[in-house]
Amino acid sequence: MRKNIVAGNWKMNNDLPQTESLLQDLKKHVIPENVSVMVAPAFTNLFQAFEYLRETPIEVIAQNMHQSKKGAFTGEVSAQMLKSVGVNTVIIGHSERRAYFNETNAILAEKVSAALDSDMQVIFCFGEELNDRKQGEHLEVVNAQLEQGLFHIEESQMKNVILAYEPVWAIGTGETASPDQAQEIHKYVREHVKRAYNTAIAENISILYGGSVKPANAQEIFAKPDVDGGLIGGAALKAEDFMAIVNAF
Ligand code: PEP
Repeated sequence: MRKNIVAGNWKMNNDLPQTESLLQDLKKHVIPENVSVMVAPAFTNLFQAFEYLRETPIEVIAQNMHQSKKGAFTGEVSAQMLKSVGVNTVIIGHSERRAYFNETNAILAEKVSAALDSDMQVIFCFGEELNDRKQGEHLEVVNAQLEQGLFHIEESQMKNVILAYEPVWAIGTGETASPDQAQEIHKYVREHVKRAYNTAIAENISILYGGSVKPANAQEIFAKPDVDGGLIGGAALKAEDFMAIVNAF
């Protein structure tokens, strides 16, 4: 049985006091048993997040990591560094990393391998830009991202992968893919995973939707059979909104 997952990506928001305030607010809520909840604070705030969330089921995860084990990569953080502070899950391939930090499918493939080889779990993000969709090329784009960034990994490692379909045109724009648009891609991707690996892996992999999910639309999106939760940006910065999404299953 695949898991329902809601992960909050806090991006480069919240300094330490603001992070503490959000963590405090999150702690007031009861987490339902049918959902795995994750939050990804900035690297500088990981330690506080662990302190605050210690006695809750909320998992603290990272927004990014470097593909190398160690070395002269100023400003970067390795899988081992993340693991040593207790982080076991990392987001890889977010569209902002692809767009602003030139992370190509080839680089992302290395990151995925580096994380999985360090026994971390990966949330692998992919999704088309508006132009791709307008030209009817969204399925090809998604295919290429999966084939070049992810499908090199072995069958045994796929159990540590969560997928996140995030159409770029819906991220932070207030525009959401309709539940049917999300379902179409999620179903397509699950079938693709089945062809590349096997039925059991395809049925067990969680595929999250990301792109302007909010309390008002989460329920109808999560109700789709191939949508197993969400990767949440803006709405994850307010505990009440985030928890309303967590409770939308
Ligand atoms: C994201 O950045 O992964 C995201 C889905 O952002 P938002 O919810 O703000 O669209």
